[in-house]
Amino acid sequence: MRFSDFGFHDSLLEGISFSGYENATPVQEQVIPLVLQGKDVIASAQTGTGKTAAFLLPLLHQLLEKKHEGKVGALIIVPTRELAIQIAQHIEGLSYFIEISSIAIYGGNDGQNFVAEKKALQMGADIIVCTPGRMLAHLKMGYVDFSGVQFLVLDEADRMLDMGFQDDIQFIIAHIPKKCQRLLFSATMPEKIRRLAREILFEPQEINIAISKPPEKIVQQAYIVYQTQKLDLVRHLLQIHKYQSALVFCSSKQSVKDLYRSLQKVGMKVAPMHSDLEQQEREQVLQGFASGRIPVLIATDIVSRGIDIDTIDLVINYDVPQDGEDYVHRIGRTARAESDGIAITLVGETEQQKFGSIERLIEKEVLKMQLPEGFGETPEYKPARQKHSSPRGKGGRGGYYPKRR
Ligand code: AMP
Repeated sequence: MRFSDFGFHDSLLEGISFSGYENATPVQEQVIPLVLQGKDVIASAQTGTGKTAAFLLPLLHQLLEKKHEGKVGALIIVPTRELAIQIAQHIEGLSYFIEISSIAIYGGNDGQNFVAEKKALQMGADIIVCTPGRMLAHLKMGYVDFSGVQFLVLDEADRMLDMGFQDDIQFIIAHIPKKCQRLLFSATMPEKIRRLAREILFEPQEINIAISKPPEKIVQQAYIVYQTQKLDLVRHLLQIHKYQSALVFCSSKQSVKDLYRSLQKVGMKVAPMHSDLEQQEREQVLQGFASGRIPVLIATDIVSRGIDIDTIDLVINYDVPQDGEDYVHRIGRTARAESDGIAITLVGETEQQKFGSIERLIEKEVLKMQLPEGFGETPEYKPARQKHSSPRGKGGRGGYYPKRR
């Protein structure tokens, strides 16, 4: 389905093509018409499905039609500052050709930003993207006016509840008009999310975009380690496993470069793959890997979706991927066609929560392996989420993104 079929304003369509989107994704196809009809929506959709634009586009379209001068028109509540920044950037791209202002407000420990956020809030913005704790701190100071809010979005609602934000969310919702349209997005739909939906949504339409599960024939394993143990462990794993081709995933270019240098130094036949390489270099590396000349490829997620090489029988996640979708795509690089494959994830001490969410998403507890002797102590696996701990009502590091005009 093309975006012009939704009847969006021309200037918004320009922003969509400026963002490089051609066709709507399934979640967008289903969510956008409902939001345009004014319905409340509850959608289960993971990161990577295009869910952000699924709520941003109809919001932007409608805000253009019924703008409430000087008042906040839409409030988007998200669990983390990273997501807040990401959504603010999405808004900037999509609204590049329209007069819409937005602010991202998120927690931290820098008093200066709190003041800047306060100023931005007092000046007003069409869209506010915020984390619950930080918004609560501002609300309690008494200068925030949410009387014009027409749209409320809770994004990654399951994560917010896991982080203990339920009360903060309820407090914020108590400050917005009862009849505003409400959308709730969540990667998973446990009972507590359904309960929240019953409390805050009005006769919601339900959308379900299921995550694809990894094929059963892939043997999934995980090592719970300290970050400092990863390098030795990956070397060890590449020595003890028999494979034709192994793909090692890192979450950043720098991490690929560092690991590549370390493995090359100890004489291993490895090649790096990341976006800093020229197209020609990438093709050469991929050819070498596909032909078996290079047995180990160290890569960012740049190859987690596209690469289809039958001989990959070992995938190692040196870093835990950002979300379940990336995990499924990464490990799906092995066991192509008729062959089998092993996928091993190294879970560092700060990545346990992320891995816990992935396990919940794929509805599988990945087998935890013992480290071989000589590697020393390992951390305990405690993936449950911690309650957010930013100071309330005090200054904190945050940020605001007044729109560039
Ligand atoms: P999200 O699931 O919202 O995190 O989006 C995942 C990625 O898909 C982001 O990089 C978006 O910019 C991109 N995206 C969203 N919608 C589309 C679309 N219709 N066509 C192409 N890319 C899209």
